[in-house]
Amino acid sequence: MAKTKKSEAEIISEAMGLLGSRKTEAKREAARRNGAATRWQAKPLSEFECRCSAGPDSADSAHKSYCPRGRAYRRRNVVAAK
Ligand SMILES: [Zn+2]
Repeated sequence: MAKTKKSEAEIISEAMGLLGSRKTEAKREAARRNGAATRWQAKPLSEFECRCSAGPDSADSAHKSYCPRGRAYRRRNVVAAK
């Protein structure tokens, strides 16, 4: 029944681990606020500058692959198809 004695450092480390992982309402609230501030928002395709002959009012799929708007449209549709 020999209990191995923990060193002071081990005891402190364990205690701090417990304190640090404790979830409080204030922590949840802070995480929510931080998340809301940094969450990525997709830019509307109409905000992408058109540099091809399709024109800014054309359908998104009509833009060429070198046009920023066409590139954004294709990138999003590749992601959505997965
Ligand atoms: Zn274009």
